[in-house]
Amino acid sequence: MVEIKTDTSLDAMRAAGRVVAQALNAVRDTAAVGVTLRTLDETARTVLREAGARSPFLGYRPDWAPVPFPAVICASVNDAIVHGVPDGYRLCDGDLVSIDCGAALDGWVGDSAISFTVGRPRPEDTRLVDTAYEALDAGIAAAVVGNRVGDIAHAIGRVCRAAGYGILAGFGGHGVGRTMHEDPAVPNEGRPGRGMRLRHGMVLAIEPMLIGGGGDAYRTSGDGWTLRTTDGSRAAHAEHTVAITDAGPRILTAL
Ligand code: MG
Ligand code: MG
Repeated sequence: MVEIKTDTSLDAMRAAGRVVAQALNAVRDTAAVGVTLRTLDETARTVLREAGARSPFLGYRPDWAPVPFPAVICASVNDAIVHGVPDGYRLCDGDLVSIDCGAALDGWVGDSAISFTVGRPRPEDTRLVDTAYEALDAGIAAAVVGNRVGDIAHAIGRVCRAAGYGILAGFGGHGVGRTMHEDPAVPNEGRPGRGMRLRHGMVLAIEPMLIGGGGDAYRTSGDGWTLRTTDGSRAAHAEHTVAITDAGPRILTAL
């Protein structure tokens, strides 16, 4: 079932989303060659704590996960696509990093992800990251009243495929509200004009996950969480929590 939020609830979700944006901003500022992923997680924890927010990631355990997620961010480096577990890995020159973060404030959740390079970027990584944001922007632009979920999916998929990239199979965006994952599912590829019609008050996490090598397949790492490309190519992920409103898409996880 899809919950339609009141305008008051959307404002409360905006407050939660702003905390996520602040955490991601702090992580991006902290990330540098030699910094560990665990330090990035601690940076996000501090922002959440100071804002009085709870992490919907910490302790999260979907039925496919062998252990509860142990951190407040996912940190996915290079061939890791999503769900990377922050550990003692030290960032290297030229790494491509994706950080996913959530926050729950006053009972409402925000969910957002950024990708960036550390040190001197490879040109192909810059193109991959730029395309992830371009796909996100296209998805957000399609998130308007009267459109359907398939219009968002189609907009995202078209950008990714036109650039020659793969799209992580079986994962995509989702409704967001009092919990992190709600209906409807928002795939990263699809047919326009299909699926649920978008209404004022719906809130969706839109999140393209691109694979540089062009294939859609993944493998799960030994930690049971991290999804990696099968060909060793790099991946990028960008996400915003977006409210559908009569005035157009409202990005709740912007700074
Ligand atoms: Mg996320
Ligand atoms: Mg999400």
